[in-house]
Parts: sequence; C-alpha cells; structure tokens
Amino acid sequence: MRTNFSLAQLADPDIAEADRILRTCVHCGFCTATCPTYVLLGDELDSPRGRIYLIKDMLENDRPATADVVKHVDRCLSCLACMTTCPSGVHYMHLVDHARAHVEATYSRPLIDRVIRALIARVLPYNQRLRWALGAARLFKPMAGLFAALGLGPVAAMLRLAPDRLPATSARSGSRLFSAQGRRRGRVALLNGCVGPVIAPAIDAAAIRVLTRHGVEVVVAEEGCCGALVHHMGRQDEALAAARRRIDAWTAEIEGAGLDAILVTASGCGTTIKDYGFMLRTDRAYADKAAAVSGLAMDISEYLERFKLTPERSAKDLLVAYHSACSLQHGQKITRAPKELLSKIGFVVKDVPEGHLCCGSAGTYNMLEPELARRLRERKVSNIEKLKPAVIAAGNVGCMTQIAAGTAIPVVHTVELIDWATGGPAPAALAGTGASAPAGETVAAGQ
Ligand code: SF4
Ligand code: SF4
Repeated sequence: MRTNFSLAQLADPDIAEADRILRTCVHCGFCTATCPTYVLLGDELDSPRGRIYLIKDMLENDRPATADVVKHVDRCLSCLACMTTCPSGVHYMHLVDHARAHVEATYSRPLIDRVIRALIARVLPYNQRLRWALGAARLFKPMAGLFAALGLGPVAAMLRLAPDRLPATSARSGSRLFSAQGRRRGRVALLNGCVGPVIAPAIDAAAIRVLTRHGVEVVVAEEGCCGALVHHMGRQDEALAAARRRIDAWTAEIEGAGLDAILVTASGCGTTIKDYGFMLRTDRAYADKAAAVSGLAMDISEYLERFKLTPERSAKDLLVAYHSACSLQHGQKITRAPKELLSKIGFVVKDVPEGHLCCGSAGTYNMLEPELARRLRERKVSNIEKLKPAVIAAGNVGCMTQIAAGTAIPVVHTVELIDWATGGPAPAALAGTGASAPAGETVAAGQ
C-alpha cells in the first residue's frame, strides 16, 4: 500500500512504525473472512482492511479522529484473527494500538462514554477497588434490564457479567515465594494481575501447585495489573506506567535470585507483556529491561510443555471442549501446547467449530460493545454445545467469564484441569456436575 507521510511526520517513531505496517498491506482482503465484526456486520469498514484504510487516512492527514472512525475502531475486538490470516505479515496489532491512542488523544467522546471508560480504567486494574465494585454490582444486578432500557448498555453489561459471589482470596499482598517440592528444577515469576485474582484466584493457586509439584520455585513479585486493559482503551500513559511497575518488580527478581521465565495464566495479559519490549522501545531507561521481561514471558502452557506430567487420577473419557483464546492463538500463536498437555494426561480434547472467531470477551469489549459481544458469545456457545462436552477449558479468565455467562456447562482454566489430574483438587466449577469424580474413577463424556 502506498503511503504519503511527510518527513516531519516520519520523525515520530510511532508514525514511522505505522507507515512501515501500512506499506506491508497489499489490500488483498483475505483477512475479512476471519474478522468477527465483518462476519457479523458485513460492512467493509468493520473489516481489518477497512479499518486499515480509515487509520491510514486519519494518520496521513494528521486529523483528529472523527465519530465514524471511532465507531469502527471501537468495534474492533483486537482479537488479531486478521494477523493469523494475513499472508503479508501486516502487524495490525501495533497499528490499531496506535490508532486507539490517537483516538484517545484527539477525540472527545460523549460524556456518558467518558464516565464509563474512566470508571473501568480506575476500577478494574485495582484488586481492592474491583472487589468493592463487584460487591456493589451484586446489589444492582437485578436492575441490569432497567439500565439497558435507559440506553446504558455498558452498565447493564457490567452488572450482568459481575459474579453472584466472589471467591475468598488471600489477604496477603507484596512479594510471595512458593518453594519447589523435591529437587529444584527452575525458578519462575507468576503474574498476579488485576481481575483474575479477584474473580478466579483458583487459577493461579492451581498453577502454583502444578509448578511447585514439578520442582519449580514460584515467586509472585508485587501484585497488580500488567496494563493490558487500559492499553486496549488507548490510555497509553496509564498502560506504560503499569508496565514499568511490573518491569521494576520482575527486574529485581531477575537481578536477584534469577528467573527462568515470567509465567502468565491470562493470555490477554501474556500478549501485552510479550509486547513490553515494543511498547517501551523508545524509553531509554526501560527499553532494555522491557525487552528482557518480554523475552522471559511465557504462557503457563508453553512452560509446562517441558515437563513430563504424570496423571494421578484417570481423566479418561472426560470430554473437554478447548476454547482457544484469541490472545493465545492469534496473539501468541500458541495453539498446540494446551491441547497436548490435556490429551497427554488423559482428557479427550475437542476443538470448537469456528474456533478462530472471538467469544466477544476481548478485555473490556464485552462491557463497551455489549451487543456485538452478546452475538459473538451466542455463536461461540452454540458451537461449543454442539460438542456436548463435560467441561470447557480456556487459557484466559476473560473468555471464561464471557462464555460462562451463556452456558450451564462448567468452564475452567486449562491449568485447573492439569492440576486436578496431577494430584490437586477438582476445579470448583465441576462440583456437583458429575464430572469431578474421585481419584481413580472414570467419567463419561456428557455426564
Ligand atoms: S490480509 Fe493482510 S495484506 Fe490482505 S488486506 Fe488484510 S491486512 Fe492487508
Ligand atoms: S483484530 Fe479482530 S476484530 Fe479487529 S480487525 Fe482484526 S480480525 Fe477484525
């Protein structure tokens, strides 16, 4: 694609990068077929190619974002299915990230949108604030329909997504160390992020049990958000500040007792942490440290591949529908490891039809674009239910919440199944479903 940026514009490293990305696009349109919003809406401007043209026009002319551009950029899930499909290697993620930052800097949203976005950005990334907010949301949950009728779709969506009960969580904060059992074979840091520890602390607890059981020492170095949530809202300063805090905490570990890897159980966060090196490439004080952190970042499934997992209880015949989170399959190109780990320890794993299409979670998307998110969830759940699985496994807490809101089939994290099969407790979501058979018993699919 030809571009027409001036030399002065190209002096800005972000514009230079956008120019490089735009030039790789050959407008073939292959990406439209796998773009969830194009599949749903059939509008070229809601396809990757259409958005690329809108972004190019906005940046080349150095124009503030218009309401029309904002509508189509906001509707993008950042699912990155287009990057998997694109034969030319267009780095759509960096382009749309830059476009979102440009929107945030140049466009004044309607007041109610600004309030909702500020609320999300000031609450979700902070564990204690999120706990309080979810406590309050329980009281207003029955009024979700009323908020929707008043045109406050995002508020209604937040209330509907809020869990009925919050699991008990550890009151401890700060750095924590979990010793390896037996001979130490490795030392890793585990991200203890924002939403996961509040609504699903069992995921990281399972990861820690699996790791320590296999001889890995785990450090949870200072808790907090990785910045992904605000990054996807275009709030660059907040995202970079969160990234620097995580980098400081992990750099202290790298320079201290050392780290073999920085593990993440939420693939949305993992994709962002793997991109820290790019995000902070022009920050002299942080560029090298950010690149080092990105180089060590791994999804839990990637890291566990190096171990021979030995099942302690039979999982034979338990049919698992594996939902491949977009951030894992498109963002990190991890498709094989989670399924192979589950299969090797005895689960029967099936791929979900149309598995390349997003479930509609996408960070804060299911709150900010609730109607499209609902349609994508219904499509995803319908595809999953065709498999008649006993359980759904996913590697991202956002997908788990989104899918669980649309089905009665239990949804668990992949590492919870691995933990259960290798000696840990059965995932709480399986309690009372017939799937959580005692050790040694087998469970038939669909029971
Ligand atoms: S598939 Fe790639 S090269 Fe083709 S239009 Fe889409 S982004 Fe451009
Ligand atoms: S990131 Fe997803 S929603 Fe956005 S343009 Fe690409 S395929 Fe479409």
